[in-house]
Amino acid sequence: MKKLLPSILMLALFEAVAVSLWLTKNNIFYLLNFSYIGLCLSVGLTLFISGRRYARHFTQFAVGTYMLVYLGILSRENMQIEGFWYYLFSGTFEAATIHYAVAKIFGPLLFGRGWCGYACWTAMVLDCLPFKTPAAPRKEKLGALRYVMFGLSLLLVAGLFWGRASHLEEIMFWMFLGGNALYYGAGIFLAYHFQDNRAFCKYLCPVAVFLKPMSYFSLLRVHCDESKCVHCGKCRRVCPMNVEVNKEARSRKNGTECILCYECTRVCPVKALK
Ligand code: SF4
Ligand code: SF4
Ligand code: SF4
Repeated sequence: MKKLLPSILMLALFEAVAVSLWLTKNNIFYLLNFSYIGLCLSVGLTLFISGRRYARHFTQFAVGTYMLVYLGILSRENMQIEGFWYYLFSGTFEAATIHYAVAKIFGPLLFGRGWCGYACWTAMVLDCLPFKTPAAPRKEKLGALRYVMFGLSLLLVAGLFWGRASHLEEIMFWMFLGGNALYYGAGIFLAYHFQDNRAFCKYLCPVAVFLKPMSYFSLLRVHCDESKCVHCGKCRRVCPMNVEVNKEARSRKNGTECILCYECTRVCPVKALK
């Protein structure tokens, strides 16, 4: 029972969000949506605690395909960053604005970049490519491209509002399809070019601009007992995000890039990471 406590707490947290939004917005969709996501995450967590290597992929596919196929394509909700700007400019606290607030802006205070490790539908595909461990160190300067992408996405949607474009909902749907095709294409190209599945996350994804600040203060993080560390470097070699995880400080290099995959904890020979 004690082993199941984190999964139960996870489910309870999402149920609290589900019920609060259901009652305040008077819309049962929120109850079903957040209950489903909470259930997927708690099942994934249970699988992870039981030592199943596929636990993270299970969660990525269960949540990622739901959001991409059901919410994005069938329900025509643009859940990408452009959808967030769209709902924000429309003055509605719905769909993408709620999703961004929960998963990407305030949620990281609790679970860091868990979104990137367990729910993102772009990474769910990229993580299936063959370069799980980066072939070379991170190209630090390329990380600036994320901010360019962030600015472009904002300008694109702002331009539609300023230009008083008609059929905005239709445009946003096609932007969702086009944007995803572009992300997958760019993500796969960058993965092969840099021999690094997560190159897109490191250099191009604008969503990271939202995710990073609160992740710094995340309650959930990988701790390092530096007194146990024998400096073998295995954790840093296996880390898909090049985190300096053999340091305990929050200011560790690339600390806000951690996707909580826990690959580092598996390889540490002296169990210094947990
Ligand atoms: S950085 Fe972007 S593409 Fe990568 S997992 Fe996070 S949200 Fe998804
Ligand atoms: S390997 Fe460790 S430090 Fe790197 S992303 Fe995964 S959990 Fe974070
Ligand atoms: S794997 Fe463990 S012992 Fe090796 S550098 Fe990382 S924290 Fe230290």
